[in-house]
Amino acid sequence: GERQGCIVRRPCRVMVLVNPQSGRGQALQLFSGQIEPMLTEASIPYTLVITEHQNHARDLVRETDLSQWDALVILSGDGLLFEVLNGLLEREDWEEAIQTPLGILPGGSGNALAASVHHYTKSPPAWGKELLLSCGFLLCKGLVTRLDLVSVHLASSQRIFSFLSLAWGFVADIDIESEKYRLVGPMRFLVGTLMRLASLRVYQGRLAYLPAPPSTPQNSSLCSSLPCGPNSSPNQNSRHNHSTNSNHNTVLNSSNNAITTMRTEPQPVNRKGPPDSLLADLEQPVPEHWTVVNEEDFVLVLAMFQSHLAEDLFAAPGATADDGFIHLLYVRAGISRLALLTLFMTMEKGGHLAIGCPHLVYERVKAFRLEPLSPEGAITVDGEMVEYGPVQAQVHEGIARLISA
Ligand code: ADP
Ligand code: MG
Repeated sequence: GERQGCIVRRPCRVMVLVNPQSGRGQALQLFSGQIEPMLTEASIPYTLVITEHQNHARDLVRETDLSQWDALVILSGDGLLFEVLNGLLEREDWEEAIQTPLGILPGGSGNALAASVHHYTKSPPAWGKELLLSCGFLLCKGLVTRLDLVSVHLASSQRIFSFLSLAWGFVADIDIESEKYRLVGPMRFLVGTLMRLASLRVYQGRLAYLPAPPSTPQNSSLCSSLPCGPNSSPNQNSRHNHSTNSNHNTVLNSSNNAITTMRTEPQPVNRKGPPDSLLADLEQPVPEHWTVVNEEDFVLVLAMFQSHLAEDLFAAPGATADDGFIHLLYVRAGISRLALLTLFMTMEKGGHLAIGCPHLVYERVKAFRLEPLSPEGAITVDGEMVEYGPVQAQVHEGIARLISA
């Protein structure tokens, strides 16, 4: 039941999840050296959880009693947050679970969300320890904003949730190849980019998307604060109605007739997470009002859901945590190595969209579908390799909550 009329502030209860293997393997030292003193100073009680293997965090948050926690904080790279989000959305009570405020502290080699969150504070760029302290400070401040998630359908009809990016071609190959340079930390993407440029190739595929309607300027997205923070309220203010899973079809019918008629099968009753009202079945053609890209030869397709792809890759300069957009970038085949290198070098400061590169296209979309035709290749979601094959995705505006500025 809802707690009402309580105005007494109490300390936050924070679960800090640390992946001791992330980045250069220093996440635990970063915790005890930098973050623990900050939490102590701010009188924030925490419980430290050190992950022992892949999917440990995912299983834990899927089973745990979430009422014990005011926030789940991840000290690792983006991969551990990916686990936590998907664990939350695999729960029976996903609609409530996904409202748990999430915090990110950069401890990995890919710290894109931390870099994005720092960017949203409008502070000048920061790296390494400075970025960690900035994110630690935001955690102690405890302001919570909304976070978009993107549901991604894979060929085997599996669905995963992403907060950061989907990549195919050049960028996905860098994600994977650079894993072996993990020990150089965030520099691994630079090393990987240079290696990939040397063996540049073309990727065949089909791309289609649902363009986003022209937007009006957004208001500040601050939605609440942690119990220990300023303006805190003990009631979690949810804008979602807590409807049951069984009425997914009703939701689809009332919100989008065009799509409903394309569905031949009802959604599985026990599918958890929000329904994807914008998507047709992956075996069927995309809805008629979608834009189908003419080219089939690409160097890369990159869908961004936050501003940064890595600490030094400001790939979607216009993106905010909850703008409700997928920032779709693609590079057509025919680009020279020099032009591609220039793109990635200007991306460090977010200037790549302004250099008039004729091979680069940028669109703000609500959903997209990518069907690779090349027999081999890689697709990454939030930097993690997923099943290779046709994929489609749609954005769910602001369904998660993020400790941010
Ligand atoms: P990095 O940015 O260094 O890649 P991530 O947080 O992305 O760091 O973690 C890399 C991978 O390690 C992720 O797939 C994550 O699920 C996995 N992982 C989490 N905890 C552990 C652990 N204790 N041992 C090994 N792998 C782990
Ligand atoms: Mg990672």
